[in-house]
Amino acid sequence: MRARIRELERKLAEVVGEENVSSDPSDLVPFERDDQFFLVPPHRPDLVVRPGSTREVQGVLRLAHRHRIPVVPLASGINRKGLCIPSRGGILLDLRRMNRILEINEEMMTATIEPGVSFGQLVNEVRKTGLRVITPWAPSTASVLANYMLRGIYGPATRYGTDHLISIEVVLPDGRLLRTGSLNTPTSRPLPYCNLVNGPDLCKLFQANPGTMGVLTRGTIRLYPMPEVIKPFMASFPNYESMVKPAIELTVRDVVEACWTMTFTPSSLRTLTSGGRLEGFADMFGEEDFFSMWLYVAGERERAERDEQRMRRIVEENGGTLLGPSSPFPRRRRRR
Ligand SMILES: Cc1cc2nc3c(=O)[nH]c(=O)nc-3n(C[C@H](O)[C@H](O)[C@H](O)COP(=O)(O)OP(=O)(O)OC[C@H]3O[C@@H](n4cnc5c(N)ncnc54)[C@H](O)[C@@H]3O)c2cc1C
Repeated sequence: MRARIRELERKLAEVVGEENVSSDPSDLVPFERDDQFFLVPPHRPDLVVRPGSTREVQGVLRLAHRHRIPVVPLASGINRKGLCIPSRGGILLDLRRMNRILEINEEMMTATIEPGVSFGQLVNEVRKTGLRVITPWAPSTASVLANYMLRGIYGPATRYGTDHLISIEVVLPDGRLLRTGSLNTPTSRPLPYCNLVNGPDLCKLFQANPGTMGVLTRGTIRLYPMPEVIKPFMASFPNYESMVKPAIELTVRDVVEACWTMTFTPSSLRTLTSGGRLEGFADMFGEEDFFSMWLYVAGERERAERDEQRMRRIVEENGGTLLGPSSPFPRRRRRR
């Protein structure tokens, strides 16, 4: 096995350069576990490979296919829940060198990026245009393409749904290249702005799966107009059941841009606030659980004002209390 890995390492070095392939344990150890190490048994890759282009990714996958070696892609290295643990060894494909923003198209309201581009990096660039990237509640180092591909996004803009990926370029496990939507149009300049051209939208095949069907090497994502107003609110409710109806009404009727329900127990609140500026906050709720709804109103100023009134009415009609500047914290309620 060792000899096989050495042989593969030599061939991989011809594809990505010697400095971008390693079987040295000190380079492999960082990839063997993540924050769920108590649930997902650690496992070390045999090799770490850092391609810098689509062509290099193709070369790596072709070799891995020929040698029947498993490959686990890694986009930004947050590496949670065992998603990037190479449980059968093989190649850890570290895509962080592929971190170029290829285009921000204000007219089409899109960005075309490589997998190593992080939310922080893209938000900083897109901000200059007056457009907006839909972000998750996650570290700004998370990869935009990995997150959008996993379609796990939930964050401060649920109004826009969970699918922001228009078209992708993906290297299939045997090294062949697939381009989806209008990215596949045979012109001299790539036109990646439409997902449906001829036939089905193949981009969807590669979504909501953890890198098992191929390696994304670029993707075109939707950007959105930056609203004139974004206003956050919090509401408290007497119990969980009473939050369900207003949460549905507020989101389905598009009153708020985002709505999450969260339940805090006194012990979790104390843990969250201990040692910080909100220390003592939990004591205001005694030993009762705190049922909260986090809401964002957003849009043009007039619309935001109208939506705020509608939101207030829906919350109050359903037994909730909107926490605003005049009443920063809720009065204690008895559990129903
Ligand atoms: C504290 C915390 C809070 C978070 N909160 C949220 C949240 O509110 N909403 C939300 O949506 N997400 C949230 N996340 C998840 C986060 O946004 C990332 O999407 C997730 O952690 C993936 O991390 P990553 O970008 O480093 O991708 P990686 O860990 O590198 O990859 C994730 C998966 O995608 C595969 N993959 C990576 N790149 C490619 C590629 N180019 N082609 C094919 N497969 C690939 C990998 O093999 C792996 O299976 C949170 C994460 C943390 C740590």
